[in-house]
Amino acid sequence: MASLGYDDTDFIPGQPYRVHDSQRPQPLVITPGAEVGAPPSDAVVLFDGSDLSEWESVKDPDADVGWKVEHGYMEVVKGTGDIRTVKQWGDCQLHVEWAAPEKVQGDSQGRGNSGVFLHSSDISSGYEIQVLDCYNNPTYADGTTGGIYGQFPPLVNACRKPGLWQSYDIIFDAPVWDEGWLVVPAAVTVLLNGVLLHHRQEAMGPTGHKNVATYSTPDPEVGGLRLQDHGDAVRFRNIWVRSLAGYDAE
Ligand code: MG
Repeated sequence: MASLGYDDTDFIPGQPYRVHDSQRPQPLVITPGAEVGAPPSDAVVLFDGSDLSEWESVKDPDADVGWKVEHGYMEVVKGTGDIRTVKQWGDCQLHVEWAAPEKVQGDSQGRGNSGVFLHSSDISSGYEIQVLDCYNNPTYADGTTGGIYGQFPPLVNACRKPGLWQSYDIIFDAPVWDEGWLVVPAAVTVLLNGVLLHHRQEAMGPTGHKNVATYSTPDPEVGGLRLQDHGDAVRFRNIWVRSLAGYDAE
């Protein structure tokens, strides 16, 4: 076969390859999902609408998860607590679909509140991308749908009406620590319903409530993905993740 590239061009600065290098490894071929939003072939499916086998209760990992599964979605059951994935990830791409309750109740942070936490094993760790019904529901800016809670409001409010399905596509860069020192903060890119909300936004630290987030203790290299029970019957479906770090700790 004829060479597909060149062997006499200059090296690209910072890379071991030439421009159009004929020897450069090819990107891995994967099969994208058949429909928009469907998991590609290299994704780990965390919820396909049928069961919660990839999830566990944060309060008691040995207990029943407690969230309702029906009609292809899972639904928060008030008081059961947050749930997290059994598996853990570092850098990753996450797809989550969610819907706030169709029947509007409450206001501000009390309406359709949940959350998607990245890099989180318990309720005091991780980085929350807020889930909230922000359709005609004013609240504080850094608690808006898609906000990095308590730190950065989304660039826009792209929330659909309550009851409608909405999608998050999140790219998470895990923080890097070296011997107790933070070297690189966590960063997220977030799209809601295909609209960019954050672009490589560095987090100030793990999510808190009514306090300024800071990095204090080193994060583990990998963490679970956690969904919040904030007392509202928010629904989730079609959840999948792709590791971007080359490891996928069990
Ligand atoms: Mg929340």
